Parts: sequence; structure tokens; C-alpha cells
Amino acid sequence: MNRPEKLIEGDIRLDGRRPDELRPIKIKVGALNRADGSCYLELGGNKVMAAVYGPREVHPRHMAKSTSAVVRYRYSMASFSVEERKRPGPDRRSIEVSKVSREALEPVIFEEYFPRSAIDIFVEVLQADAGTRTAGINAASIALADAGIPMKSLVSSCAVGKVDDTLVLDLNKDEDNYGQADMPVAMTPDGNITLLQMDGHLTRDEFREALEMAKGACTTIYELQRAALVEKYSSQMEGGDVIE
Ligand code: ADP
Repeated sequence: MNRPEKLIEGDIRLDGRRPDELRPIKIKVGALNRADGSCYLELGGNKVMAAVYGPREVHPRHMAKSTSAVVRYRYSMASFSVEERKRPGPDRRSIEVSKVSREALEPVIFEEYFPRSAIDIFVEVLQADAGTRTAGINAASIALADAGIPMKSLVSSCAVGKVDDTLVLDLNKDEDNYGQADMPVAMTPDGNITLLQMDGHLTRDEFREALEMAKGACTTIYELQRAALVEKYSSQMEGGDVIE
């Protein structure tokens, strides 16, 4: 698609959202039987699956740490997840996304409880529409909780950006492609930032405002993550089926 003439008209974006509106979010906790914890999450057009295994033995052994667990995060995009077939396997981008996503989650994990073990997080992007790293972190955080990994809190993530000189929340693909800035953020519910990246330019005032927008969005996402976990575990405790 060529650049649309306007990405935002009045106060309405191309997909009908207001500047401070998130895309719809759907969460299914425990979507996979063989993982210790898992979560399927949709954020607008993004569809991601997170699976957590561990704490378990570390292979290769030399990667083990004597005083804490090693946390590994593998972000991977399916070849059919984007418009033009993506070459399968790791590339520079997926290595970078894996690294920053791991760093976004590590501060909340009690790694010291599990010396010489591994906690492995896999995030598979099935459909991409900008914001896959934020969707992946949101799903992985829930999958870690579902696996029973002791954590200080959940982590919630959302991007803020600038299109046509307006700050907007949770950029879609066109806004990501043709916008002026893209700033993915992840944070704990008490506002400790664990991921902050920036593509493009924002003024100092815009940056402050963007961060406030991200905080509001992360609070909303946190409530949804928490509600999804409560729903799964309260229905199990009542002996009922897992609510879809
Ligand atoms: P994020 O998905 O976290 O926003 P980027 O800003 O790097 O990360 O990517 C934005 C979007 O660009 C992705 O969500 C995806 O829709 C698209 N994209 C990324 N990599 C590719 C690729 N190899 N081929 C086609 N589209 C891609």
C-alpha cells in the first residue's frame, strides 16, 4: 500500500480509532497442553502464541548459572505471518526483539529461586500487524504466570507513536510504516519501565506525553491480563471448565 494522504483526519485514525485508543485485545490463558504455561493473545491484527517451559534442566549445561535461573526468550515470526512470505529462521530483527523482550521480563522473575535451571519462553508470531513485540511480551508475561513461575508482578506492554504530528497509541501497520515515531514501552503495574525503545523523533514534551499515554494503556492491559488469569484459575478452583 502507498502512503495514505492522511493517517489521521480530525481525531480519527484510518482504522477508526481515536489517538489514545488501543486495538481490541483477546486473551486465552493455557492454550497449549504440553507447555508448562501458555497464552494466546490477539492485539488487533496481531496473533501471537507464548509458551513457557521450566524451571527445567539447562541444555547446553555450560549455560547454567550457579546462583540463578537462566531466562531465554525466543521470538519468532511464522513465514506466513506477514504479507510477503518471510524467510523462516532467526534474523537480526528477531534476535534483537528476543533480547529486549527477555530484558523486559527478567526484572520481575525471581531468578534466584532456581539456580542451575532454565526458564524458556517461546513467542511465535502467527500474524503480524505492527506491535508484535508488545503483544509477545503481554502474552509471555501471562504464560510465565500460568507456568507458576514466581514473579514480582506481571509486565504489560504497548507502543506509542506519532503520525501526522499527533501522538497515537498502539500503532497499526500503516502508522508504523508511514508515521514519524514508534516507541514500544513495557512496564510493571507500579510503573517501573522494563522496555523503552524509540524509532524516529519526539520532542521532549511529546516524549513525556507519550510516556503518560503508554502508562495509561499498560494499566488497561494489566487489568485484562489479570482478569484472564483470574478467570482461568477461579473457574478451575470451582471445578468448572476453563472459560474461553
Ligand atoms: P513490532 O512488530 O514490534 O512493531 P517492528 O516495528 O520491527 O516490530 O515491525 C513492525 C511490523 O512490520 C511488524 O509487526 C510486521 O507487521 C512488519 N514486519 C516486520 N518484519 C517483517 C518482515 N520480515 N517482512 C514483512 N513485514 C515485516
